[in-house]
Amino acid sequence: MRILVVGGAGYVGSHCLRHLISNHNDVWVYDNLSQGHAAAVPEGRLIVGDLLDTGKLIETMKQHDIEAVMHFAAKALVGESVVRPDIYYKTNVTGTLSLLDAMVASGVKKIVFSSTCAVFGNVQPPITEDLPKNPINPYGFTKLVIEHALADYAAAFQLEAAALRYFNACGAASDGSIGEDHDPESHLIPIVLQVALGQRPHVQIYGTDYPTLDGSCVRDYIHVEDLADAHLRVLSHLKPGRLVHYNLGTGVGVSVREVIEAARRVTGHPIPVIESDRRPGDPAVLMGDPTKALKELGWSAKFKAIEPVIKSAWAWHQAHPSGFQK
Ligand code: UDP
Repeated sequence: MRILVVGGAGYVGSHCLRHLISNHNDVWVYDNLSQGHAAAVPEGRLIVGDLLDTGKLIETMKQHDIEAVMHFAAKALVGESVVRPDIYYKTNVTGTLSLLDAMVASGVKKIVFSSTCAVFGNVQPPITEDLPKNPINPYGFTKLVIEHALADYAAAFQLEAAALRYFNACGAASDGSIGEDHDPESHLIPIVLQVALGQRPHVQIYGTDYPTLDGSCVRDYIHVEDLADAHLRVLSHLKPGRLVHYNLGTGVGVSVREVIEAARRVTGHPIPVIESDRRPGDPAVLMGDPTKALKELGWSAKFKAIEPVIKSAWAWHQAHPSGFQK
């Protein structure tokens, strides 16, 4: 299939891109490189452009006779979204509407959208697809707005849409070629591994008074290669005029303290911690119920435990201590 991977130079997008290519799809990347890395995209496959440039999107879709879009390009930091909602609404909402308009104008029907478990807010886990959606931060709101837009565009323009709600994407490619590299880095696992590499003195635990077993937040860490697998599978389960949703998690919750403990075992480093205040916008527990994805897509996470996930990330960080710069 001819697929336009929007945001394909970014973390999740670049891992999905690899998987699509190794499954014989003809893939193009559209990315403004504001957060992504050209080095994560195979030679000759990158179109540098902005989501807000509807004209360039239309031209790109027509030129490459695109059949499906995978949309990863977004701002995705909970804490940042609380202080800069303007950027989040512009990129995630206005930007995605521009992409949808370009699809309608160029007759592209299929779209797989990177949504998030942050659309749910504080709900009782495990989180199934149909639970109420009450986001508690602007990031989650922007993604929920687009889920609604996708359903409406699908019905009106016969689009075939999927919203894949990731839990906490993590890990790196098994061959060590690509991995997580954000600037600045704010995600737990890469920060912990930067401490192990001696690039930071300690990791802060944001909140130790949550109503969880050890007081730190609990998340469902899902490996990027498992996410990539779900993206490919869902392409053959799209339905004309409909938006389908899947929650992509392992079904297992891991606390911040448990992540740090696992990283100590994997790296052999003591990884000093500082207990800090809660980070605004963080729910106490997010843990997915992957039953629907298993039943309908035949998908389940291959990386179920946190240690192998951290091992894959550690291999990337050790081989590329400065990320894509080296
Ligand atoms: N976290 C932390 N210290 C850090 C970074 C993150 O305690 O330096 C916590 C954060 O509050 C959350 C969990 O780790 O409970 C995962 O955060 P991350 O930013 O990796 O992903 P998010 O859940 O925001 O998508």
